[in-house]
Amino acid sequence: MNKYQSLLPVDEDGYYGRFGGAYIPEILQKNVEELKKAFYRYVDDDEFNDEFDRLLRDYVGRPSPLYRADRLSEHYGTNIYLKREDLNHTGAHKINNAIGSALLAKRMGKRRIIAETGAGQHGVATATVCALMGMECVVYMGATDVERQQPNVERMRMLGARVEPVRSGNMTLKDATNEAIRDWCRNPDSFYIIGSTVGPHPYPEMVAHFQSVISKEIRSQLLCQIGRETPDYVVACVGGGSNAAGAFYHFINETGVRLIAAEAAGKGVDSGETAATIHVGSEGIIHGARTLVMQTADGQIVEPYSISAGLDYPGIGPLHAFLASSGRAEVMAVTDSEALDAAMKLTRSEGIIPALESAHALAILDKRRFKRDEVVVVNVSGRGDKDLQTYLRYV
Ligand SMILES: *Cc1c(COP(=O)(O)O)cnc(C)c1O
Repeated sequence: MNKYQSLLPVDEDGYYGRFGGAYIPEILQKNVEELKKAFYRYVDDDEFNDEFDRLLRDYVGRPSPLYRADRLSEHYGTNIYLKREDLNHTGAHKINNAIGSALLAKRMGKRRIIAETGAGQHGVATATVCALMGMECVVYMGATDVERQQPNVERMRMLGARVEPVRSGNMTLKDATNEAIRDWCRNPDSFYIIGSTVGPHPYPEMVAHFQSVISKEIRSQLLCQIGRETPDYVVACVGGGSNAAGAFYHFINETGVRLIAAEAAGKGVDSGETAATIHVGSEGIIHGARTLVMQTADGQIVEPYSISAGLDYPGIGPLHAFLASSGRAEVMAVTDSEALDAAMKLTRSEGIIPALESAHALAILDKRRFKRDEVVVVNVSGRGDKDLQTYLRYV
């Protein structure tokens, strides 16, 4: 009997309301089934969890601090706490999932890892754990992103990964994901580490589980700092939704905690240059799941746009499609310039340069009023070193 029970509103087939499931070609059926079995077997395994916890602590540097931002709190007239995922090894939350998934791959006897990457953060996290565990690593990356994100490409290569530029579509994240899935079809003995809470079941549930350490820590840190485990708000940005899933996880069933997801509006929700999938998307299937998708009336994917390479994805994890449609989470769209302003504000008032993705979550503080006695936790999903060129152009 499994002790494990997901705290997510997910059923056995991986549906969150009408979103989710596993829409995959015949040839992947066996792989996905095998992955599902392994995940449910090891998720409860003490030895597995001890190894995962040890690496999160001694390698990643967890727990990441929960920091009360005094100057920001004063400025906005409320109590703002920052969850510092930017301080993790490799600079973002992605490493939590990369480690959990690679440990699972190891248990399954896999020696070759496939990953897709957009901005390169997931590629770097995956290349890092492959070096750590002595595994072969192939990372698919759109040729446009290979150009835009050279430092991360160089990091991956130094770590020993093979970076495969993808030249289909507009040569960004969606195209890289297609190519990674194609590789997996050709090489069923490989393990595909997906970078967000997207893809066919069990990926969204599994990635959310590995990221749920974020909200687990928030609860115990709040208890120490303010004497209660729950804040009034948790705010996070959503690309595919993994950092938000991790930050929301242990609060989803506590309706007193309000959840706010920030998606990338690009140049504006109605500008035609946006990545605000929940605002402009409609139901469809992308990368193996039924969810909201940016698409034309006849089902062609619309190319997304955001200043932040980590958020320009034309889909959204099924969990977030469900949380938004059921009203459990409030979704706000944040434009490029609002995110840039928020990044500058955090940098100059707290001395923390956030990732452009995380700046979308911080921008909520400008768009929403909070009361003096309320407690607002903002997940700072990553650090801004990779975005300095963009910031400097803007200043
Ligand atoms: C990849 C990334 C994101 C977006 O991905 P999610 O799965 O939605 O979390 C957000 N922030 C940072 C720093 C990232 O690297």
